[in-house]
Amino acid sequence: MKPVKLRTKLTLIYALIFGLLLTGTGAWFYNLFAYQIDKDLEEELSERAIALRNYLYINGDRVELIYNTNDPDEAYFVNLAARYYQIYDAESGKLLARSREIEAIGFQYSADEVKEVIQGPRLAALKTDQLSLLVRNDLIETIDRRKCLLQVGVSLEPRNNAVSRLLQVGIWLIPVGLILAISLGWWAAGRALHPMLVLSSAAREITVSRLDKRLPIRGTGDELDQLASAFNEVLDRLDKAMQQMKEFTSNISHELRTPLTVLRGEAEVALSKASTEKDYRRVLESQLEEFEKLSRMIDQMLILARAEAGQIKLMREVVCLSDLGKIVAEQLEPVAANKGLSLVSSSNGKVDVIGDRGWLERMLLNLLDNAIKFTPAGGHINVTIASSNNQAFVEVRDDGIGISSEALPHIFERFYREDPSRSSELEGTGLGLSLVQWIVQQHHGRVSVASKPGQGSVFRVELPLAPDDVC
Ligand code: ADP
Repeated sequence: MKPVKLRTKLTLIYALIFGLLLTGTGAWFYNLFAYQIDKDLEEELSERAIALRNYLYINGDRVELIYNTNDPDEAYFVNLAARYYQIYDAESGKLLARSREIEAIGFQYSADEVKEVIQGPRLAALKTDQLSLLVRNDLIETIDRRKCLLQVGVSLEPRNNAVSRLLQVGIWLIPVGLILAISLGWWAAGRALHPMLVLSSAAREITVSRLDKRLPIRGTGDELDQLASAFNEVLDRLDKAMQQMKEFTSNISHELRTPLTVLRGEAEVALSKASTEKDYRRVLESQLEEFEKLSRMIDQMLILARAEAGQIKLMREVVCLSDLGKIVAEQLEPVAANKGLSLVSSSNGKVDVIGDRGWLERMLLNLLDNAIKFTPAGGHINVTIASSNNQAFVEVRDDGIGISSEALPHIFERFYREDPSRSSELEGTGLGLSLVQWIVQQHHGRVSVASKPGQGSVFRVELPLAPDDVC
């Protein structure tokens, strides 16, 4: 089934609400009008009937209307009130008098009907082929104490005409109003949805190669503007991720190209120049170093890629960080000593954290490995593990070559290495600190660095302490 367009839906909803309101209001107005007109008519009729009584003179079967014919107001009123009237003897049901209009149509009650009318409601409708009247029935007393039925009427014609004219207007007005509502609704919905169409056509232009494009913000601050800016924020993040991916790919190619060129060059030289077994052995030994560097880099890249893809699940166990620091320092002590460095570890008691022992060990190894790499012979490296305010601290301090202020903000980026010529060691991949940062983040901690070129560096890791009850 074809989906109904939002514009059509909105128009239909609008037309339905408008139609219901219009019909409801029309019906209410019609009823109110009819009620009011009926009430006015009843009041007028009562006034006429009550007043007419005072002008009637009934003596025996003789009925007379006595009024001042010289008073035009009085004459007019009596003529108006007496236009439709008839008087019957209540006892016998005999017709005593009636107006010319009633006489003209030859309308007359029988004796039984007179009794019925007397017992019936005071106000009633009287309908003949020629006339439609609202009548008021009053039981009056004559001078000779006889009871008579006085029936005074008023024509319902003007009332019926007005009400039916109103109904006709309503019957026309409702469909016309509905057509107007549909047109207006269609136009208003189109206008309201126009910015959305602009947004969707702008969104359609955004492709992987055009991630720099953004949705237009109209500056009205309305829901659509909010939607567009939320979408733009998503695009910002996507664009950034895409840039990082591109950078990563180009970095990988760059990083792989150098050792591969070296390997290829060495192989070519060996093929063209080496003649003895010793020559070949030297080339192979040199290539082995390159292979080791390559496989180390690929290992680290794989770890990082798996880590970022969320494929690595960390354990959550109590790890004694102070013991771990001591063990890692002991492991690397011979390497440091070999380079003429002193490596000392210290802690202010037992420091426990919750985390993955293997990954925390790798974090310490990477930090210490860097300290050893970037500290010249005769230097000092200190690993301090301490705790305060529910935080565990790891501080790896060296008095090595330090890091320039330009390089400092970038050292945690993947593949970033500050001018490798500063160090005699060339085996760095620029991935070690990225991994440290990922491990620290996974343990809900943070890592920071302070360094001055020529004076050394301090890497500081803060991790939440394990709660007392789990240690
Ligand atoms: P690498 O494999 O090159 O050590 P890292 O990501 O571990 O990669 O470090 C990135 C860069 O940060 C290094 O190349 C180096 O320039 C700088 N760096 C890291 N640790 C130290 C340190 N202790 N002293 C001086 N420079 C450091």
